[in-house]
Amino acid sequence: MDSESLTGSGTAAVPTRLTDYQRGRLTFSWEQARQQLDGLPGGRGLNIAHEAVDRHVTAGHGDRLALRCIAADRTVTAITYTELARRSSRFANVLRALGVGGGSRVASLLSRCPELYTSVLGTLKNTSVFCPLFPAFGPAPVEERLRLGEVKVLVTTDELYRRKVAGRRDRLPELEHVLIVGPSPDPQPGTESFDGLLADASEEFTIPDTDPEDMALLHFTSGTTGTPKGAIHVHEAVVAHHATAGFALDLRPEDVFWCTADPGWVTGTSYGIIAPLTHGVTLVVDAGEYDARRWYDVLASERVTVWYTAPTAIRMLMRVSPRGRPPDLPRSFDLSALRFIASVGEPLNPEAVRWGQEILGLPIHDNWWQTETGCIMIANFAGTEIRPGSMGRPLPGVQAGVLERGRDGRALVEGGRVHVLDEPGAEGELALRPGWPSMFRGYLHAEERYRACFADGWYLTGDIARCDADGYYWFVGRADDVIKSAGHLIGPFEVESTLMEHPAVAEAGVIGRPDPVVGEVVKAFVSLKPGYDPDTRLARDITAFARRRLGPAIAPREIAFDQHLPKTRSGKVMRRLLRARELGLPEGDVSALEEAQ
Ligand code: ATP
Ligand code: MG
Repeated sequence: MDSESLTGSGTAAVPTRLTDYQRGRLTFSWEQARQQLDGLPGGRGLNIAHEAVDRHVTAGHGDRLALRCIAADRTVTAITYTELARRSSRFANVLRALGVGGGSRVASLLSRCPELYTSVLGTLKNTSVFCPLFPAFGPAPVEERLRLGEVKVLVTTDELYRRKVAGRRDRLPELEHVLIVGPSPDPQPGTESFDGLLADASEEFTIPDTDPEDMALLHFTSGTTGTPKGAIHVHEAVVAHHATAGFALDLRPEDVFWCTADPGWVTGTSYGIIAPLTHGVTLVVDAGEYDARRWYDVLASERVTVWYTAPTAIRMLMRVSPRGRPPDLPRSFDLSALRFIASVGEPLNPEAVRWGQEILGLPIHDNWWQTETGCIMIANFAGTEIRPGSMGRPLPGVQAGVLERGRDGRALVEGGRVHVLDEPGAEGELALRPGWPSMFRGYLHAEERYRACFADGWYLTGDIARCDADGYYWFVGRADDVIKSAGHLIGPFEVESTLMEHPAVAEAGVIGRPDPVVGEVVKAFVSLKPGYDPDTRLARDITAFARRRLGPAIAPREIAFDQHLPKTRSGKVMRRLLRARELGLPEGDVSALEEAQ
């Protein structure tokens, strides 16, 4: 796998900031990256919303399209940078008039509508803190996050408020204002009209002095491994959002960029709002559901040039147009504007990269990062060699390392020291040297948990990886998911990726099931592509296929069919839940589960 490589259809020939950097034509430091941004007029600090919106207006680019918001029914609202600056200033004035000041928390529970973007940017202009919540969360997860975040203002719709918040409002004493977007024929007590307040507010707003260390965003992690943590991000993060979008996503002002992640997840904020706007691109926002035809249609009709999505979405497209059959669906759309696809959130199986090359004729660039890191850390960059199955290499300004592990599977800390594994191919905990601008500044109300993330000058990511001789990082699994079997440490990703190469398999989740003889045996849960029946013959065939590829020590002993693998709302397979269900253990925190209500 390590030796296989792709350069992507023509992109290698296109000079990017990164190829310039690699050839030594461009130097980089975070301080230089900081200089690329303006700062508030009069040297009054650094504010994300100013860099994302107002700066372009001052520079005379206000007529450019900032957003093209596509509603579920396909109506499009186009908003220029000037208009976005005005709307966000109005919302900042609304907050000020409500007595909501710097540092106060404002949350959204909204689908991807224009008002969501107005709210985020207006909140940041007012130096309040934005906490985006995923609208498909059920009442309990919403309440939990509103309480944890000490949210003072909630922006939502009448329907979402009635269904998810109204019944629990008396348990949320800190929630002072609920602003309702859109029609509210019979307004609920304790709510105000967002549109009414906005209409009455002035569109002139002077952003107050903003310290780059002022808290800007409160982002809950996906909850894949347990209770979601509230990661704190500050205004300085915008330096990293901007620089990494230049390197890993190769954004230029003429780009039409579409990020499918909901702002309820960090990707949907860092790269679904902030980073692209700082580059002055046109951002496509689609409120529609996952649907292959709709997505191809949006890519084609909007002439999207760079698309940022997740492995779960790519696997959905693969299910519809498998390799080896004529790609009728994608071929019926004109995707010629698209330069490349980037993917994040979960390991990107090599099969997915090959599929992209064969069926779409496009490179798919894997990116690795976390809610905590705030921005892309490791990537198969635009314009460089892509190694399918690898996350890529650390971006400029990012220092990564692989640390030796102890018995618990996490980095071994002895006398406050860790041991960096230098030999190529050695597996260990992926760690990063803190110091980049979007590094989280804490977990809200969980100081201990935050401190436990650091040792000997490293930030410990909780992921297991190996680094090859050329500096490419390969994901093995989350430390909690790694399987110990007969003296082997087995990464679920490798097994899942192999299973996906079987023609019948659409997706896979692999766990270790305790076994008295070997410690743990590998068990795989797989979902099938259309046209395949889940019977014992197929299970035997898949097992034999995996044994041939992986050898008997690593191949799954057992296969179970499951068309609905448990996933977080952000599309990650929840292996801990598969394991808990298998063993009849308590399911733990499932607030981020897809069907959680
Ligand atoms: P929680 O921390 O609450 O358990 P989470 O870790 O899933 O949830 P996020 O911050 O959204 O929350 O996800 C970051 C994690 O996602 C990474 O630590 C890694 O395990 C996984 N991940 C992200 N990108 C990649 C990638 N390209 N390859 C492999 N894994 C990835
Ligand atoms: Mg995590």
